[in-house]
Amino acid sequence: MITLRSVLYILAFALFIYGLMGLTGPRTAVRGNAIAAAGMAVAVVATLLTPGLGNWWLIVLGLVLGTVIGVPAARRVKMTAMPQMVALFNGVGGGAVALTAWVEFRETTGFQGEPANVAIATLFAAIVGSISFWGSLVAFGKLQEIVPGRPITIGRLQMPLNVLLLAGAIGCAVAIGLGGTAELLIVAVLVLAGLAGIAVVLPIGGADMPVVVSLLNAFTGLSAAAAGLALGNTAMIVAGMLVGASGSLLTDQMAKAMNRSIPSIVAGGFGGGAAAAPAAIDGTVRSVSAADVAIQLAYAGQVIVVPGYGMAVAQAQHAVQDMAKLLAEKGVAVDYAIHPVAGRMPGHMNVLLAEADVPYEQLKEMDEINDEFTRADVALVIGANDVTNPAARTDPNSPIYGMPILNVDQAKAIVVLKRSMRAGFAGVDNPLYTDPKTTMLFGDAKASVREVVEELKAL
Ligand code: NDP
Repeated sequence: MITLRSVLYILAFALFIYGLMGLTGPRTAVRGNAIAAAGMAVAVVATLLTPGLGNWWLIVLGLVLGTVIGVPAARRVKMTAMPQMVALFNGVGGGAVALTAWVEFRETTGFQGEPANVAIATLFAAIVGSISFWGSLVAFGKLQEIVPGRPITIGRLQMPLNVLLLAGAIGCAVAIGLGGTAELLIVAVLVLAGLAGIAVVLPIGGADMPVVVSLLNAFTGLSAAAAGLALGNTAMIVAGMLVGASGSLLTDQMAKAMNRSIPSIVAGGFGGGAAAAPAAIDGTVRSVSAADVAIQLAYAGQVIVVPGYGMAVAQAQHAVQDMAKLLAEKGVAVDYAIHPVAGRMPGHMNVLLAEADVPYEQLKEMDEINDEFTRADVALVIGANDVTNPAARTDPNSPIYGMPILNVDQAKAIVVLKRSMRAGFAGVDNPLYTDPKTTMLFGDAKASVREVVEELKAL
């Protein structure tokens, strides 16, 4: 039967999907987000129309608490703290699903008289939701530097421990499925799955956390969809599957852009925020002054700016935009080459440059810009390292061999702004720095760009 509730749900799903489509490009992303949020508001209203819903005051209290905590937190969060914010909010979703599963267990006294599919879906939701909650909390702690970012592991015993914890959780779930009604069993499921979540994420290095958060996000979506199946709530199924599918795709794309498999990321041991050692460089490195760089840029026809993690650290995006404006006034064509994993989170560079009002049409994805480097007079690398490393193309022994990179080395001249000869995230040597076409402007990226801007003004 068609009810107002089902019509509202269909409207909500349409808004989710339409909103998600908006997230495919920076120009439409903000609107897409607002549309999907409106969809969620419609879904909440539709759920509130469920007959015999329960205690209204508790529901209103929950809504008020969520709004009071969520809105100011999302408004105040710094762009660089976004990954940990996502980790926290995502984790809370997984936690809510795990608690819902517990409530269902209590209401039905261990799923007595419930069909098997309801029990299985709820127990699945309990395990995955709990893994996601506790794993996300550890990810949050690492990104917020409350927990040390370095891999924390018990060595060779780590993997057997992880398997044991997960097997324990599944074992208790099976015991419930076979008729066990003791509440201790569901508590054991939640605790063991939670410990498994912690044990899996602790050994992963802090810098890999964005990929882990994306993976856990997919887990939360799946657990919500399973809970939706158990509760017969279509909104949870659809929204959960959308989160699960988009989280899985994002994780896959990030892993591909880094040329690493998801299991190898989860196994840790790469990058991982270890203090990068100075790379062993063969050949001569040529250092230049800001004045030289300004002259080189001012007399170029086309400049491609390649931003990376160092631009984010230095918060140089506004200075970079000032420089690009000055160059445009001098008739220089400026574009930005955006690598999919530049920085430390998906879309990191897009967001920073949008914050500095860089026009969207100047932001070019890797596939779009890579052929243009041969025509560029200067490739200006600002705090990027791994995403420009030609060894990924040429050195089969390099840990990043096979990772798609920006063809910076094909530009007529290359200028690199960074503080030292230290390696980037992957901890590997970058032969770009000894390329005869490359010059280095050493220093903090923001200070260096500001100096270049002053020199450009003086020209
Ligand atoms: P990298 O980490 O490779 O290099 C950044 C460089 O910036 C460093 O070599 C550093 O050199 C320099 N730097 C740091 N601070 C400053 C500063 N204040 N001023 C100037 N330079 C600075 O960054 P990329 O963006 O090139 O590559 C991203 C890496 O992160 C890839 O390996 C990717 O796989 C990985 N990654 C990306 C994720 C994502 O979603 N985007 C998620 C997880 C990992 P120096 O110390 O000499 O200044």
